[in-house]
Amino acid sequence: MEILSGLNLEEFEALTEKLGASKFRARQIHNWIYLKSVKEIDEMTDLSVKFREQLKEVAKVTDTKIKVKQTSTDGTIKYLLEYPDGECVETVLMRFDNRANLTACVSSQVGCAVNCSFCATGKRGFIRNLDYREIIEQVLTIQRDTGLKVTNIVFMGQGEPLLNLENVLKAMKIFNEDFQIGARRLTVSTSGIIPQINKLAQLDMQSTLALSLHASNHETRAKLMQIENKYPMDELHKALKNYTDKTGRRITIEYLLIKDLNDTAQSARELAQYLKDIKCNINLIPYNPTEKNDYQRPSNNSIMKFKYLMEHSGKKVTVRLERGADIDAACGQLRGKIK
Ligand code: SAH
Ligand code: SF4
Repeated sequence: MEILSGLNLEEFEALTEKLGASKFRARQIHNWIYLKSVKEIDEMTDLSVKFREQLKEVAKVTDTKIKVKQTSTDGTIKYLLEYPDGECVETVLMRFDNRANLTACVSSQVGCAVNCSFCATGKRGFIRNLDYREIIEQVLTIQRDTGLKVTNIVFMGQGEPLLNLENVLKAMKIFNEDFQIGARRLTVSTSGIIPQINKLAQLDMQSTLALSLHASNHETRAKLMQIENKYPMDELHKALKNYTDKTGRRITIEYLLIKDLNDTAQSARELAQYLKDIKCNINLIPYNPTEKNDYQRPSNNSIMKFKYLMEHSGKKVTVRLERGADIDAACGQLRGKIK
């Protein structure tokens, strides 16, 4: 059985040719899959009944199941998807301000090898990479289930996208060309895999790169993220500079705020110094509680104070709204399990 979601136009054309139909049919099926996100071949109403029957004999829309769907009081929806081999990942739909911004947070791997101390995904270890079609499937699931069209995509679910770069780039190309989502509405978040950041600079990526920095000095970062020992902050600084120089694009610096650990005025000063010559915006992420560590979220007052100090350094600073915490859909809470 051929699975239709994830095929590109040429692949649809090969399929319709095999069935003795014209190339125009391929374009129609393509639109039903990516723009109208149908659940069944029978919903493709501009294809003749006869052709639909033919198509159903050799193909189906998807082979991925929604295992669990949860809706938060803030409107965020979290899906736990199950792929044919039984592995599961979450994908999250967030609505901001109005219906014009529907952001999908997608997973790039099952589990994650980077194992940051604050993250529930890392605690699971690395299971496997997701194929580009499995990444795309997450957005299609959201579109099929809600009947809405996703407008923005962030690679901030399970996994380290730059450790599965080939599939992530293929998925981004399809999001851009087939889903017709502008490159600038796609964001890839990384824990800081230096060689791959350099590669993205070389490719002149037009999407947004977000870097999970989370600390203002080597000691603190090494405590939070083991990866700091492999790719330390001073090396990272060079890669970020090179990236912004080459692409002309502004990086998003993600900075997790943990009470008494990296939220002090001293940390803000060090951070401002580190980012002085990097073209970037700063996104502060107040820590979301997960099991098995004793980090705490700072008070709103400390968060605002830190924001003020960073703004003072001349950067644009936003505080990430916590979404879907009541259904464990917030940053760092995804772990591919039901309970
Ligand atoms: N692996 C990539 C992308 C997925 S994580 C990365 O680490 O960048 C997306 C964001 O959520 C990262 O900035 C990550 O550091 C953050 N995050 C992880 N655990 C968190 C927690 N408990 N509270 C708040 N943010 C968290
Ligand atoms: Fe992996 Fe990102 Fe979680 Fe770190 S924060 S363990 S890199 S998913």
